[in-house]
Amino acid sequence: MKTIGLIGGMSWESTVTYYQVINETIKNLLGDLHSAKCLLYSVDFQEIEEYQAKGEWEKSGIVLSKAALNLEKAGADFIILCTNTMHKVVPMIEAKIDIPILHIAEATADELLLNHVRKVGLLGTKYTMTQDFYKEKLVKKGIEVLIPQPEDIEIVNSIIFQELCQGQIKEESRQEYLRIIHSLYANGAQGVVLGCTEIGLLVQPKDTNVLLFDTAFIHAKKAAQFSLL
Ligand code: GLU
Repeated sequence: MKTIGLIGGMSWESTVTYYQVINETIKNLLGDLHSAKCLLYSVDFQEIEEYQAKGEWEKSGIVLSKAALNLEKAGADFIILCTNTMHKVVPMIEAKIDIPILHIAEATADELLLNHVRKVGLLGTKYTMTQDFYKEKLVKKGIEVLIPQPEDIEIVNSIIFQELCQGQIKEESRQEYLRIIHSLYANGAQGVVLGCTEIGLLVQPKDTNVLLFDTAFIHAKKAAQFSLL
């Protein structure tokens, strides 16, 4: 079994999901008392969020590269970054380490294709929804990406930072997300990517008939499967 190196804490609320899904997947695959071999490097999200807000991606790239290097030195065989947004600096991290990074958007694209989804709605932070670093991974695999209207982008983004990353789950926010998910569906999306690792804490498949792709779940499950290859 390979050792998984997790870079977490962005936010820690969703890193909990990763730890749980990784171990559940290993247990389902191997049975008995099996659990995942993994190392967690959890950062201070306040520092990372401040760099994001100021557009200082280089600085956050340095912090995450150090984390990755420490995980490599500690014996990780590959890395997963437990956030969609910070995949913006994956090329920077990759330049500093010799072990692979399992990319969240590539894992998600594979899952979409497996489900024959060619046109998808994307929810996430405003960085993930409006910049290219994430969407391009889906587009490269032939998947068309729809994002919400500008005012809805602000709503989705502010619920992530003001509530979900602080452990607050509110019914009115769930209803707002469902409204936006249904409008993406009405615009032709065959499913919606929950492209922020905390969204699955708010909205789950039982809340809607629209097909949802929870990136934290997909990524964690892929990491567990990869650790056994
Ligand atoms: N965890 C979130 C994501 O998947 C947002 C936190 C962040 O900005 O890194 O994008």
